[in-house]
Amino acid sequence: MSEIENMKEYCLNCKNKPCQTGCPLSNDVPNFINANSMEDAIEILYNTTILSSICGRICPHGKQCQGKCTRNLTNKKPVSIGEVEAAIGDYALENNIPIPMEIDEKLINKKVAVVGGGPSGLVCSSFLARKGIKVTIYDKHEKLGGLLRYGIPDFRLPKEIVDKTIEKIVEQGIEVRTNQELNKDFTITELSDKYDAVVLAIGANIHSKAHIENEGSSNVYGANEMLESGNYPDFKGKKVAVLGGGNVAMDAARTIIRKNAKEVYIIYRRSEEQMPAEKEEIALAKEDGIKFLFLNNIISVEKERIKCIRTKLVEKEGESRPVPINIEGSEYDIPMDIVVLATGSQTDKNALENIELDDRGYIKIDENRKAILTNGSKSNIFAAGDVSGDKATVAFAARGGKDAAEEIIKYLK
Ligand SMILES: Cc1cc2nc3c(=O)[nH]c(=O)nc-3n(C[C@H](O)[C@H](O)[C@H](O)COP(=O)(O)OP(=O)(O)OC[C@H]3O[C@@H](n4cnc5c(N)ncnc54)[C@H](O)[C@@H]3O)c2cc1C
Ligand code: SF4
Repeated sequence: MSEIENMKEYCLNCKNKPCQTGCPLSNDVPNFINANSMEDAIEILYNTTILSSICGRICPHGKQCQGKCTRNLTNKKPVSIGEVEAAIGDYALENNIPIPMEIDEKLINKKVAVVGGGPSGLVCSSFLARKGIKVTIYDKHEKLGGLLRYGIPDFRLPKEIVDKTIEKIVEQGIEVRTNQELNKDFTITELSDKYDAVVLAIGANIHSKAHIENEGSSNVYGANEMLESGNYPDFKGKKVAVLGGGNVAMDAARTIIRKNAKEVYIIYRRSEEQMPAEKEEIALAKEDGIKFLFLNNIISVEKERIKCIRTKLVEKEGESRPVPINIEGSEYDIPMDIVVLATGSQTDKNALENIELDDRGYIKIDENRKAILTNGSKSNIFAAGDVSGDKATVAFAARGGKDAAEEIIKYLK
């Protein structure tokens, strides 16, 4: 029996659909799992998503749909929702099942520019194009995909899946302008004048500072930019420390070990239980031979060594989880050739001229996803995905893109 058939039997078809509430895109999980055919299943999924092959593979399902599955309570093992979604998505790609169109005559002369062709921009473009709106995607890279292509490593998300998914979206009649960078090749004002609406979906992939001594040294790299550019220093035979505890730290470490580094350490100031990375990713990193230093922090980078300090967790008023503090006098040195920082990421503020940012540095948007300008006014500019503070996962970025499309459709009518 195939995995889908197994899961059809295993799924309880719960009336209240807790799995659907756990999905950022509100995918109708029980209905696509229990559909009569793959064609019916993809039709159900296309109502809410166009990234099934991708989300099925890389969403943190344990924290989303599968985390809410009733089977956790009865058998301690959820329905493999991600696996089923990926299989249905792959079937649609392999059998060239097109994304359905729902042309709205009132919208066919409208033009929208989407800046950024990552998951939020792609999903927004697709839901706009579905209605017959003329969409143009501008992106600074040579190819579309954002972090799906220039971030998440190939060993987790095969690029042919990304290529085929994008092909299907572009087939909806979307114009693509690549190698076009905002505030270099064009401005927001130019687009705002030329198009009926503009969507800013440029992500937030500039690494955050770690505030350690000698952070600017030539042997210190930002994980985000390193993975995005694909430009790696020569790791062969080197000892490398990756600072951080999220999925970016895991991806960076696992990529670096594949580039023949001698030893790779992940240094994290909290405990393993508090690591934001997926449990599965942590386990895979361990399998790859990555070493973990929990409750440790780097305080300075020197030539061929780093100074670390041990930390402990303390309860602090107003904090939802224990806070790490340095243990005085516990400093020690470790020989290390290269340090890679994976301590969070932020938006490219230089690209966001005239756009108001919130106190975390994301685009300030109103309840209709309209960006607020620095003079306090609003225009025809909307925002979606990581740049507007959506929860930094593919599914949440996609949801932001879909919501922006819905708001733009209302605005254009
Ligand atoms: C290493 C890594 C691993 C991750 N792993 C996972 C995972 O396993 N699961 C998960 O759900 N999420 C993961 N994420 C998070 C996820 O990739 C992001 O939340 C998601 O890609 C955000 O989508 P976005 O469209 O907002 O931005 P992005 O994917 O960053 O796309 C932004 C697009 O805008 C373009 N752009 C940027 N600046 C400009 C400019 N000035 N002019 C024109 N174009 C511009 C970029 O080229 C890019 O195409 C990971 C992130 C990283 C960095
Ligand atoms: S919660 Fe689990 S068992 Fe219930 S419908 Fe959803 S996938 Fe099926």
